[in-house]
Amino acid sequence: MNSELKQKLQQVAIRHCRRFCLSCYVPAVNGRCPECHSDDLAFERAGSGVDWSVDFVIEELLQENLTPVDLDSMFEESMRDCYSDSISIGFLKNIDVCDAIRSIDPVAWDIARSEFESFEESDERIVSFDGGGTYYSTDDVEEYVVNNLP
Ligand SMILES: [Zn+2]
Repeated sequence: MNSELKQKLQQVAIRHCRRFCLSCYVPAVNGRCPECHSDDLAFERAGSGVDWSVDFVIEELLQENLTPVDLDSMFEESMRDCYSDSISIGFLKNIDVCDAIRSIDPVAWDIARSEFESFEESDERIVSFDGGGTYYSTDDVEEYVVNNLP
Protein backbone atom coordinates (compact mmCIF):
# COMPACT_ATOMS: atom_id res chain seq x y z
CA MET A 1 0.00 0.00 0.00
CA ASN A 2 0.86 3.66 -0.44
CA SER A 3 3.53 4.29 2.22
CA GLU A 4 3.04 8.05 2.33
CA LEU A 5 -0.64 7.58 3.17
CA LYS A 6 0.24 4.94 5.76
CA GLN A 7 2.72 7.33 7.38
CA LYS A 8 0.12 10.06 7.62
CA LEU A 9 -2.39 7.63 9.11
CA GLN A 10 0.22 6.66 11.69
CA GLN A 11 0.57 10.35 12.60
CA VAL A 12 -3.21 10.64 13.02
CA ALA A 13 -3.28 7.45 15.09
CA ILE A 14 -0.48 8.65 17.38
CA ARG A 15 -2.56 11.73 18.16
CA HIS A 16 -5.21 9.38 19.59
CA CYS A 17 -2.73 7.57 21.83
CA ARG A 18 -0.57 8.09 24.85
CA ARG A 19 2.77 6.38 25.42
CA PHE A 20 2.74 3.41 27.73
CA CYS A 21 5.38 1.27 29.44
CA LEU A 22 4.49 -2.35 28.87
CA SER A 23 7.03 -3.67 31.41
CA CYS A 24 5.60 -1.63 34.31
CA TYR A 25 2.13 -1.40 32.79
CA VAL A 26 1.82 2.32 33.47
CA PRO A 27 1.28 5.35 31.22
CA ALA A 28 4.42 7.32 30.36
CA VAL A 29 3.19 10.72 29.31
CA ASN A 30 6.51 12.56 29.19
CA GLY A 31 8.28 10.15 26.87
CA ARG A 32 9.80 8.14 29.73
CA CYS A 33 8.31 5.59 32.09
CA PRO A 34 7.85 7.18 35.55
CA GLU A 35 8.89 3.90 37.19
CA CYS A 36 11.69 2.26 35.16
CA HIS A 37 12.61 5.42 33.17
CA SER A 38 12.65 3.45 29.92
CA ASP A 39 11.93 5.29 26.70
CA ASP A 40 11.08 2.03 24.94
CA LEU A 41 7.35 2.70 25.01
CA ALA A 42 4.23 1.28 23.45
CA PHE A 43 1.07 3.12 22.37
CA GLU A 44 -2.15 3.05 24.39
CA ARG A 45 -5.52 4.08 23.06
CA ALA A 46 -7.93 4.80 25.90
CA GLY A 47 -10.75 2.28 26.06
CA SER A 48 -9.14 0.12 23.41
CA GLY A 49 -5.72 -1.41 23.94
CA VAL A 50 -1.94 -1.22 23.98
CA ASP A 51 0.53 -2.27 21.31
CA TRP A 52 4.02 -1.53 20.01
CA SER A 53 2.59 -0.34 16.70
CA VAL A 54 -0.37 1.96 16.08
CA ASP A 55 -1.77 -0.28 13.34
CA PHE A 56 -4.67 -1.38 15.55
CA VAL A 57 -5.56 2.29 16.11
CA ILE A 58 -5.53 2.97 12.35
CA GLU A 59 -7.99 0.12 11.81
CA GLU A 60 -10.24 1.38 14.61
CA LEU A 61 -10.21 4.99 13.41
CA LEU A 62 -11.10 4.00 9.87
CA GLN A 63 -13.89 1.72 11.12
CA GLU A 64 -15.26 4.51 13.31
CA ASN A 65 -15.03 7.29 10.73
CA LEU A 66 -15.35 5.84 7.24
CA THR A 67 -17.71 3.54 5.39
CA PRO A 68 -16.04 0.59 3.67
CA VAL A 69 -16.53 0.34 -0.07
CA ASP A 70 -19.10 -2.13 -1.32
CA LEU A 71 -16.94 -4.11 -3.73
CA ASP A 72 -19.82 -6.32 -4.86
CA SER A 73 -21.78 -3.30 -6.04
CA MET A 74 -18.71 -1.72 -7.61
CA PHE A 75 -17.99 -4.91 -9.50
CA GLU A 76 -21.58 -5.24 -10.72
CA GLU A 77 -21.52 -1.64 -11.87
CA SER A 78 -18.32 -2.18 -13.83
CA MET A 79 -19.80 -5.31 -15.43
CA ARG A 80 -22.88 -3.33 -16.48
CA ASP A 81 -20.61 -0.63 -17.91
CA CYS A 82 -18.68 -3.21 -19.94
CA TYR A 83 -21.68 -5.13 -21.19
CA SER A 84 -25.27 -4.06 -21.61
CA ASP A 85 -27.57 -3.89 -18.58
CA SER A 86 -29.89 -6.54 -19.89
CA ILE A 87 -29.62 -9.33 -22.40
CA SER A 88 -31.82 -11.85 -24.09
CA ILE A 89 -31.28 -15.59 -23.96
CA GLY A 90 -33.59 -17.49 -26.27
CA PHE A 91 -37.15 -16.45 -25.45
CA LEU A 92 -36.07 -14.79 -22.18
CA LYS A 93 -35.88 -11.02 -22.56
CA ASN A 94 -34.46 -8.31 -20.30
CA ILE A 95 -32.30 -10.57 -18.18
CA ASP A 96 -29.90 -8.75 -15.88
CA VAL A 97 -26.41 -9.40 -17.25
CA CYS A 98 -24.90 -9.86 -13.76
CA ASP A 99 -27.60 -12.31 -12.67
CA ALA A 100 -27.09 -14.23 -15.92
CA ILE A 101 -23.30 -14.59 -15.56
CA ARG A 102 -23.61 -15.46 -11.86
CA SER A 103 -26.09 -18.24 -12.48
CA ILE A 104 -24.49 -19.64 -15.64
CA ASP A 105 -20.92 -19.68 -14.31
CA PRO A 106 -20.57 -18.70 -10.63
CA VAL A 107 -16.89 -19.71 -10.55
CA ALA A 108 -16.02 -17.40 -13.47
CA TRP A 109 -17.97 -14.63 -11.73
CA ASP A 110 -15.97 -15.05 -8.51
CA ILE A 111 -12.66 -15.11 -10.38
CA ALA A 112 -13.53 -11.95 -12.30
CA ARG A 113 -14.64 -10.28 -9.06
CA SER A 114 -11.38 -11.06 -7.30
CA GLU A 115 -9.39 -9.83 -10.34
CA PHE A 116 -11.43 -6.64 -10.17
CA GLU A 117 -10.52 -6.26 -6.49
CA SER A 118 -6.78 -6.73 -7.18
CA PHE A 119 -6.94 -4.28 -10.06
CA GLU A 120 -8.69 -1.60 -8.01
CA GLU A 121 -6.18 -2.09 -5.22
CA SER A 122 -3.08 -1.98 -7.44
CA ASP A 123 -4.45 1.19 -9.05
CA GLU A 124 -4.82 2.59 -5.51
CA ARG A 125 -8.51 3.39 -5.85
CA ILE A 126 -9.20 1.23 -2.81
CA VAL A 127 -7.02 0.50 0.18
CA SER A 128 -7.06 -2.07 2.99
CA PHE A 129 -5.32 -2.01 6.37
CA ASP A 130 -6.34 -5.48 7.48
CA GLY A 131 -4.94 -7.56 4.63
CA GLY A 132 -7.99 -7.33 2.37
CA GLY A 133 -10.75 -7.92 4.93
CA THR A 134 -12.12 -4.40 4.56
CA TYR A 135 -11.48 -1.93 1.76
CA TYR A 136 -11.88 1.83 1.89
CA SER A 137 -11.88 4.34 -0.92
CA THR A 138 -8.38 5.87 -1.12
CA ASP A 139 -10.03 9.28 -1.64
CA ASP A 140 -12.00 8.87 1.61
CA VAL A 141 -8.87 7.88 3.53
CA GLU A 142 -6.90 10.83 2.10
CA GLU A 143 -9.72 13.22 3.00
CA TYR A 144 -9.85 11.79 6.53
CA VAL A 145 -6.09 12.31 6.92
CA VAL A 146 -6.24 15.91 5.65
CA ASN A 147 -9.06 16.71 8.10
CA ASN A 148 -7.26 15.15 11.04
CA LEU A 149 -3.73 16.46 10.76
CA PRO A 150 -2.76 20.00 11.74
ZN1 LIG B 1 8.49 1.13 32.95
